[in-house]
Amino acid sequence: MTGLTRRNLLGGAALAVVAALPQAARAAAPIVGQQAPAFYRYKIGSYELTAIHDGVWMRDVDGTFVRNAPWPAVQKAMADAHMAPGKLAIPFTTLLVNTGSKLILIDTATGGQLAATAGAFGANLAAAGIDPKQIDTILISHFHPDHINGIKTKDNAVVFPNAEIKVPAAEWAYWMDDANMGKTPEVARPAWLNVRRIFGDIAARIGKFEPNKEVAPGITSIAAPGHTPGHTVFAIASGNQSMLALGDTTNNPLLFVRNPDWHAIFDTDGAMAAGTRKTLLERATVDRMLVQGYHFPFPASGHIIKTGAQTYDLVPAMWQPSL
Ligand SMILES: [Zn+2]
Repeated sequence: MTGLTRRNLLGGAALAVVAALPQAARAAAPIVGQQAPAFYRYKIGSYELTAIHDGVWMRDVDGTFVRNAPWPAVQKAMADAHMAPGKLAIPFTTLLVNTGSKLILIDTATGGQLAATAGAFGANLAAAGIDPKQIDTILISHFHPDHINGIKTKDNAVVFPNAEIKVPAAEWAYWMDDANMGKTPEVARPAWLNVRRIFGDIAARIGKFEPNKEVAPGITSIAAPGHTPGHTVFAIASGNQSMLALGDTTNNPLLFVRNPDWHAIFDTDGAMAAGTRKTLLERATVDRMLVQGYHFPFPASGHIIKTGAQTYDLVPAMWQPSL
């Protein structure tokens, strides 16, 4: 027995003990300056899902960002969400579904071609123990560059050599139509040229699907137009569990789940996007369904709760140490 009491712990006896510890025990740890690999696993029925993070784009935003709300209202919502003034965090998280016999990837991240702070998908996929060659199927929600650019490197090398790539038929019809591209203002042209860069020389490999089809085992396409004309959400079901992969139904939820009527500058048809958004958020609320959002904070899944007649919020999923 050392006979330590609170009184002598605080007194000279305890100080003497500390002084006697070897110096190494008090050495400073080096500053690391980087995160652990960002992937996160969870289950839906017997399926194992892995959220694979690609990074975050800190995008400058101004009064043009939300088309139908006054800039001070947007600034207030950003401040309420503890965002830096004029800087919107847009995280990117893809979803890998392992059915037990197939590996299915929903959207492909930025390919490191959009922002210096994004492009970690490949490293995080490797850290999760998956080789791009193993992926059997890629499902695409829509054709914006942050969802399709991972199909190729910036030098146009194919990243997933063995995957069948399936895209919404309506999305293909819209973006691959040269007349539509011709009607687009010059400033928006790069997105159209990017679609041709990604798909042009692999068009024969691309499958097109319609809404309400089983596009992979247990995965059903749901039309969610507005963000883009063919924007698609995926319902994933296994056993008696199911969830919705919402794609870009909302951008950052701290703005657009809380304010589902807002028309972000990214939405092709703002009013249609808002209608789709409210329908899907309401469904997620009523069904108490787990949802994943491509631009939700990592690991980009959680539940939607109702906060008003037509306002909602995200309750992020709690990190679980085991499946
Ligand atoms: Zn997006």
